[in-house]
Amino acid sequence: MKNLIILLLSSISILATDKPNFLLIFTDDQGYQDLGCYGSPKIKTPVLDKLASEGVRFTDFYSANAICSASRAALLTGRYPSRNGVFHVYYPGAYKGLRQSEITIAELLKPAGYRTAIIGKWHLGDRPDFLPTKQGFDSYFGIPYSNDMWIHKDQKLAKDVKLFKDFTIEDIRSGKASKTKKGLARTVPLMRGEEVIEFPVDQCYITKRYTDEAIKIIDESNKAKKPFFIYLAHAMPHVPLYASPKFNGKSDRGPYGDTIEEMDFHIGRLVKHLKKLGIDKNTMLIFTSDNGPWKLGERGGSAAPLRGAKFSSHEGGPRVPCIMWWPGTIPAGTVSKEITTSLDIFPTFAALANTPLPTDRIYDGHNISTMLKAGSKGKSPYEKYFYWNKHHIEALRIGKMKLRWAWDNKKKARKAVELYNLEEDISESQNLASQMPEKVEFMSKLLLTEEEKQLADNK
Ligand code: MG
Repeated sequence: MKNLIILLLSSISILATDKPNFLLIFTDDQGYQDLGCYGSPKIKTPVLDKLASEGVRFTDFYSANAICSASRAALLTGRYPSRNGVFHVYYPGAYKGLRQSEITIAELLKPAGYRTAIIGKWHLGDRPDFLPTKQGFDSYFGIPYSNDMWIHKDQKLAKDVKLFKDFTIEDIRSGKASKTKKGLARTVPLMRGEEVIEFPVDQCYITKRYTDEAIKIIDESNKAKKPFFIYLAHAMPHVPLYASPKFNGKSDRGPYGDTIEEMDFHIGRLVKHLKKLGIDKNTMLIFTSDNGPWKLGERGGSAAPLRGAKFSSHEGGPRVPCIMWWPGTIPAGTVSKEITTSLDIFPTFAALANTPLPTDRIYDGHNISTMLKAGSKGKSPYEKYFYWNKHHIEALRIGKMKLRWAWDNKKKARKAVELYNLEEDISESQNLASQMPEKVEFMSKLLLTEEEKQLADNK
């Protein structure tokens, strides 16, 4: 069925011309405050700050989930976890992953003539049936899951796989190389296509190597006169933190800051390259993070002034920095306070690539291309936004009001209800629930009804 839909998309969109390139940069566990233009007191990001000043910086952009695999599945499918089936995180070797029946952005754009590439973290299943090459990506180069994980013993190795740190193929096949409790954690493989080409990869150079690969693909697509969709999912600043010697120890915010400053530098290389090729005005660049910061002290980031962090449905979990840059199309200097989400990227890319959205399933995001082009006058299409957290909708935002009704997994019941006015209280410090019982009742009902409806629809 999915193949038929993709075939139909291809026949409809073949006439469309002048399609923009898409460069989607997705960092890992980078907090709301961890960019110069989002108020970081110590991390310097001149490149991204400049991109924000030449495009749009969103203050109220949400990742559709505050945890890794679920966030990535929602981004790539434009659908909530209730529909795409990815609620949590996958571990190496799991017999699970993003379902084949889901349509990813790559599968949407490939039949429309795009060169599709993923560089970096996939984390939607590492068994052969779940790899990115089975989900519309022409190429894959990266660490297949989080950079603090391990290699699974069954992972397919290239004939000329490079092994380091005295590891042998026998160590991998026997599972010895996968044992994490004996100090072997953080030894992760690097894959090309469907095979491991290096183990363990030296993460100090991973940001540079990912960028080199992106430049190579931009060049290839440009030569072939094909538009590209590059999904560049950086390993950093997820722990363990690694920077190359040029950046290691250089920031004022320890190893965490080093990794972000290094990414900023390499994003500068990408922008320079687009300009050199004269394709910057035909390229939409998006920079955002998969979820808020992991609470790890100096090794983790900051979501200030937001409350909460990764895993939470307080704002610090899902609300992340987001910059969109497309010179000549997105008005420079826009700061948007409108609600926007990672679910919007799928339908927006579909519209900009002039390819129709599949009609056999529900999309939870919106096409925000008109809003983007309108700059500061652009209005959010969201009347309400639901925050999924693991297997439950835990919050609902309508305008400035947010109802949070978290789930207690031990008690299998909802916790006490919270109500906030995000406009006056961005840090969610004043629970207004007892003062506004009618609003609480109205919004709680909406939340529960929606959760039930989405899980029943499940399509
Ligand atoms: Mg993450």
